[in-house]
Amino acid sequence: MAIRAEHLTFVYNQGTALEQKALDDVSFEIPDGQFVGVIGHTGSGKSTMIQHLNGLVKPTSGKIYYNGEDIYGEGYSLKTLRSKVGLVFQYPEHQLFEVDVISDVCYGPRNLGLSPEEARQRAEEALRLVGMKEKYWQQSPFELSGGQKRRVAIAGVLAMNPEVLILDEPTAGLDPKGRDEILDQVRELHEKKGMTILLVSHSMEDMARYAQRLLVMNHGRKAFDGTPKEIFEHYKELESMGLAAPQVTYIAHALRERGLAVEEDITTVEEARDAILRLFGKE
Ligand code: ADP
Ligand code: MG
Repeated sequence: MAIRAEHLTFVYNQGTALEQKALDDVSFEIPDGQFVGVIGHTGSGKSTMIQHLNGLVKPTSGKIYYNGEDIYGEGYSLKTLRSKVGLVFQYPEHQLFEVDVISDVCYGPRNLGLSPEEARQRAEEALRLVGMKEKYWQQSPFELSGGQKRRVAIAGVLAMNPEVLILDEPTAGLDPKGRDEILDQVRELHEKKGMTILLVSHSMEDMARYAQRLLVMNHGRKAFDGTPKEIFEHYKELESMGLAAPQVTYIAHALRERGLAVEEDITTVEEARDAILRLFGKE
């Protein structure tokens, strides 16, 4: 088991007038190599939750285990944990600051104490992994497009060689092409490198397409935990949480109500296409 969270509760500004409970008794386990989506309305506690997993935020109560070890246990190194559990913040491009792309990506591995040569090698590998061509490496990160900046920021985390990659809304503000490119690359890291992925997203379509399992947050609590198909069956409850199933799920339900023989657990456009072609006998 890569990560185990037990009864996490977190309160911001405890004991002040601004006290705010952001997590309320949240428990879950993430097995090695799983691709997990985290969904929930704004303010439901997603960002607070994931920041617990690499020791950036300490729970008010509850425990976090990484590979079976209590990350707040005696002698446990949070610095090592942060290199194993890589966290890409929302709008990570705001944290780019070096003169050129390659220096920016070298920053993390240099900070881990690697030599300039080793750091450079890690950085080059990471930039290749995210599909950044060599011609960009000497450019200022500020001259790049939105999608490219974001890839550089993701490479900065990958250069630390993490075992777990957590991304907080990595596609926010990108156009559909930039969005698909980033998510396809994340999927490749999962499939080819066996990396454990936690992806926070607003998009149910993306979740249905990429995630093996979903954690649904609502008002600081874990509301659902299951496969996308299991979760999207509860679309009425999701709606009461300000969420919804993917649009094609609604279309599938509407077709069934009209007496057409399509499966009711359709969650991706590809499944909907296949079901409709089957109706016309064109499989
Ligand atoms: P999400 O990522 O799902 O939008 P957050 O984890 O950011 O949710 O927020 C959960 C709750 O904690 C919200 O009520 C939010 O207003 C509150 N919160 C988040 N960050 C802070 C902070 N730095 N100080 C005080 N309250 C915060
Ligand atoms: Mg957030």
